[in-house]
Amino acid sequence: MAIGASGSTGHSCRDAADALFGFLDRSLCPEVRDEVRVHFERCPPCVHLLDSYRKTISLCRRALSAPVPPETRGRLATRLRQMTANVPGSRSKSG
Ligand SMILES: [Zn+2]
Repeated sequence: MAIGASGSTGHSCRDAADALFGFLDRSLCPEVRDEVRVHFERCPPCVHLLDSYRKTISLCRRALSAPVPPETRGRLATRLRQMTANVPGSRSKSG
């Protein structure tokens, strides 16, 4: 008997991984959250992944709640500007 062999719900590990953040964030709709939870109940590897995600997120939260030094903030802003400059989202130019 292999994990994920039953195709009744159709929820794969990939789906579960995609929904992980929403699951932890409670931003998923109840139906999806339920399906993902069912998957976790029968898939230990995904539970492990969920656990490590949860730890990472709580670490990030703690880091974010700490005051950010202005120097770091400035560097971050510069970095963000550089990154968003390459994003093909703004269509101000009509070529
Ligand atoms: Zn899984």
